[in-house]
Amino acid sequence: MIHHRDYFELLNNNKLWAAEKLKTDPAYFDELAKPQRPKFLFIGCSDSRVPLTSILESEPGDLFVHRNIANQVNLTDINLLSIIEYAVEILNIEHMIILGHYKCGGVKAAVEGLNEEDIVENWVSQISDIYHYHKKELETITDKGKMYDRISEMNVVAQLKNLLRTPIIQRAFRNKKKLWFHGWIFDIYTGLIKDLPLPLREWKEYDLLPEDYLSEAFM
Ligand SMILES: [Zn+2]
Repeated sequence: MIHHRDYFELLNNNKLWAAEKLKTDPAYFDELAKPQRPKFLFIGCSDSRVPLTSILESEPGDLFVHRNIANQVNLTDINLLSIIEYAVEILNIEHMIILGHYKCGGVKAAVEGLNEEDIVENWVSQISDIYHYHKKELETITDKGKMYDRISEMNVVAQLKNLLRTPIIQRAFRNKKKLWFHGWIFDIYTGLIKDLPLPLREWKEYDLLPEDYLSEAFM
């Protein structure tokens, strides 16, 4: 945990990191300066406790990343849409991963509310819809923390559905691009990632996925 007085420590850590990389591979940064070819697009929560490169032990160049509060796929978010377009059309990324996490403050804010004037509540209003839509199931979970965690899972699946709805993804399917979609939850209690089951049949019925998705044509 880094406090503000440790601000200079960050810059110092950076120097140590760069030196360490050079020590193991003198050409490391020459390689890194080449055009990026990441294989995965990540859409995750901004939460500081979910440091992607650490929990996946990934290297620079591995992940193309967008993060916002509660990993929302908002169809009017030009920032995210640009990233998806760049990922699919320029980088030819095939794996799209939405990564939510337990104990998500954005999920809690959506259900409990903060102050009426807070912008974040506006941002996560979709999660409030998810909560109300699944209220019956959710109310059977007596532990409130566990209920929020379940909403985090539902939120990941809902945001994947939004991702499928984007014209960029639908165009990619029409152009026979191979794309895979994954919904992950970072279990903050164990450090492990859960690969969530996805309602693929339902998404096919909505014409959001091609009929042959996950069949041999897609492997
Ligand atoms: Zn979060």
